[in-house]
Amino acid sequence: MPVVIIGTGLAGYNLAREFRKLDSLTSLFLISADDGAFYSKPLLSASFSHGKTAQQLCNSSSEEMSRELYAEILVHTRVILIDRLNKTLTLQQEGSEHVSKILYGRLILATGAKCRKLPHYEGDAHTDIFRINNLRDYHRFRTAVTGRKRITLLGAGLIGCEFANDLIQAGFAVDLVDLQAWPLATLLPEVAGRDLQHKLTNYGVRFHGETSLKSIERSNSGLCAQLHNGDKIETDIVLAALGLEANIGLANMAGLQVQRGITVDRYLQTSDPAIYALGDCAEVDGHQLFYVAPLIACARVLAQTLNGQPCKVHYGAIPVAVKTTLHPTTICPPSPTAEGHWQVAHDSSGVRAEYRNRNGDLLGFALTGNAITHRDRLSSQCRPIMDDRSQAD
Ligand SMILES: Cc1cc2nc3c(=O)[nH]c(=O)nc-3n(C[C@H](O)[C@H](O)[C@H](O)COP(=O)(O)OP(=O)(O)OC[C@H]3O[C@@H](n4cnc5c(N)ncnc54)[C@H](O)[C@@H]3O)c2cc1C
Repeated sequence: MPVVIIGTGLAGYNLAREFRKLDSLTSLFLISADDGAFYSKPLLSASFSHGKTAQQLCNSSSEEMSRELYAEILVHTRVILIDRLNKTLTLQQEGSEHVSKILYGRLILATGAKCRKLPHYEGDAHTDIFRINNLRDYHRFRTAVTGRKRITLLGAGLIGCEFANDLIQAGFAVDLVDLQAWPLATLLPEVAGRDLQHKLTNYGVRFHGETSLKSIERSNSGLCAQLHNGDKIETDIVLAALGLEANIGLANMAGLQVQRGITVDRYLQTSDPAIYALGDCAEVDGHQLFYVAPLIACARVLAQTLNGQPCKVHYGAIPVAVKTTLHPTTICPPSPTAEGHWQVAHDSSGVRAEYRNRNGDLLGFALTGNAITHRDRLSSQCRPIMDDRSQAD
């Protein structure tokens, strides 16, 4: 019975590659709602300034991946139902009413995450807001900004800051709007966030903190965005980067246990022993991390489990380099339940912030500018994400 992977993002393809290193015989299917192109999603927020088209970001087509992996890849095909009793998937081809079925022996969900639903905005242009979460979105946005100059970004989280950094260097006028007082506020202490804010501002990004979009109207010269704090922004395009949520609908419908993501243990096994999950769709032993490093760790161990050697994943400290190249920033956030406080050292070249508990244990850190040179040393000292000790002790 075949191994079937739903999803051809970094999680699906990394797992398929790791699996093929161990097993070249078992038949392998990948099913994708998109075109199955292999690309690095993190580049979506760092490629405008390099003038990259969506095509240039595509490393391999689905046909090339199919040859590399000795796998059948069904593209533009959505799995609409999982019948766990009969180990059967119901598939629907894009643009067609026709459905077909496929059997699985073991099933892996790598269905990723989608952009969170936008809040309701007033105005006749509220449906014109762009989001970028895949190559197709990138292409649409890139086409829409051709010949335009002014972009308003909603959300100064990791992805919003990266787009601000990229688009300002691509020559656009950028307004960055966020509910919080400083960029990356959920990940950085104020001194580090303000440091990044000042650097982005020096390069021309206009930051609007502690406010949000109220309405968006078409005007003679483009769009007019009205913020709750009274600011009015004349703009051409609005791009929202307001967070992601795991694609759990299919798993939920199949009766699998889900919370914020599809619930899996450290073997990446769901509440059904024949079904596994990894990547942005999965909540691994209570941890939901929308980053590449954890999914790569998961792909390695899951490949071994599928090959008959059950293997548990272990997350160490996972520092993430934010692609704000104008002012490099690295984050290794403490767990939301960790008890401690930030100890901050800063000078004109950057900020080193260490989150420590009362025993002095390092639970997380944030670095900006030249302070990123401390990354490896702090990573080796930092408490791992998957740790049997309590974060509070
Ligand atoms: C702009 C941007 C910048 C980022 N930058 C960084 C970074 O710098 N560092 C970092 O670590 N992480 C970064 N990330 C996060 C990282 O890219 C993701 O964690 C990772 O790519 C997720 O991969 P995935 O395979 O789990 O999901 P996805 O790439 O979303 O893939 C999901 C796949 O599932 C398919 N699918 C979904 N539902 C179905 C269905 N019902 N039937 C068939 N197919 C289905 C989709 O078509 C797709 O092929 C960034 C993310 C974004 C959006």
